[in-house]
Amino acid sequence: MPQKPDLPNPKPESRRVGYAIVGIGKLTADELIPAARTSENSYVAALVTSEEDKGEAFARAFDLSDRDVYTYDQFEELADREDVQAVYIVLPNSLHREYVERAAKMGKHVLCEKPLGMNADDARQIVAACKKARVKLMTAYRCQYTPEHWAARDAVQGGRLGKVKLLDSIHTQVETDATAWRMKQDLAGGGPLPDVGIYSVNIMRFVLGTEPEWVFAALHQPKSDPRFREVEESVAFTLGFPGGIMATGLTSYGAAKTTTLRVLGEDGSLLMDPAFPYDGLKLQLTDEAGTHQPSFPEYDQFTQEFNHFSRCILEGGTPWTPGEEGVADHVVMDALYESARTGKVVPLKSSRKKDASRGPDKPQLPGR
Ligand code: NAD
Repeated sequence: MPQKPDLPNPKPESRRVGYAIVGIGKLTADELIPAARTSENSYVAALVTSEEDKGEAFARAFDLSDRDVYTYDQFEELADREDVQAVYIVLPNSLHREYVERAAKMGKHVLCEKPLGMNADDARQIVAACKKARVKLMTAYRCQYTPEHWAARDAVQGGRLGKVKLLDSIHTQVETDATAWRMKQDLAGGGPLPDVGIYSVNIMRFVLGTEPEWVFAALHQPKSDPRFREVEESVAFTLGFPGGIMATGLTSYGAAKTTTLRVLGEDGSLLMDPAFPYDGLKLQLTDEAGTHQPSFPEYDQFTQEFNHFSRCILEGGTPWTPGEEGVADHVVMDALYESARTGKVVPLKSSRKKDASRGPDKPQLPGR
């Protein structure tokens, strides 16, 4: 049971965006509900879950009433809740599309966890459903809402490292539960690649602001291990970006927790280690002046996401990581799986337009 944090938010709920969170797993319980409570412009107005007992216990702990807890079958009843302007989908990947479409039909704005869908086609349908219903859609890419990742992007794009040549990134962790939804192809859409490797793909694209022109990958799937009957254990991949920039990534469900990003330019380099946890990110920059580690004010990544999406809703903006940004990663990951299957380099149609898949409204972040 979560501990009830202090309520630091002085704004009345009527001046904040009310969210219904769909799916009370670990992320919702440990991160999202507490993060919404420290958001300047958001709050949790309702919970949707199959486990009513759990939902009601959470509701009580967070000052919601039992009537704020809905089962999945009661989801459409949220249509009558004017105080619920947005729905946050935190379900297994295969359920994202169904719940985004149902939320959009009710006219609710949608914040959806990564990966946006099961593949690029699925994700495109999600984007189309929200466009048709004229609701806003944001892909919850928390690492595009941190001052550390923005400082890395500024260093790369501001020329501080000289001409950028190479990137590498690792995101690995050990998964032990062979029965988890993450290990089922039809629930997850893949193994570590769409779950954790996606952070490497997403942040490489983010720091460069461009899209890969070709990809190449190999994967290992030891099917005799019950964990890897349906999904891969590890993927090693290379992305070829415009200007001859090459980026390599490693992702796995079988190797100890590691999250890194490195960028090498002609005149300097940067290292983020760790690069992708919820807190404690470290950025080290090495240039002609030497090596130093910039410091940043304390913040919560999930609070920053809530703040940004709610600001877009309240002020009529377009999220920095809209649905199209979720589609862009799926395009790369689909091509990586194709490359691993065929053993060939897969060319991609790449837009040369900077930040082609991102919205116009940049997040306002602490320390920037
Ligand atoms: P979880 O297993 O902890 O919770 C999933 C929720 O979905 C639970 O409430 C569960 O009851 C419900 N559910 C409904 N139908 C289900 C089914 N058929 N099988 C299993 N559960 C079902 O999952 P999670 O770790 O919270 O992941 C949910 C989503 O959040 C995923 O898309 C995942 O990629 C994403 N996620 C993002 C981050 C991040 O840092 N942004 C971290 C963890 C998870």
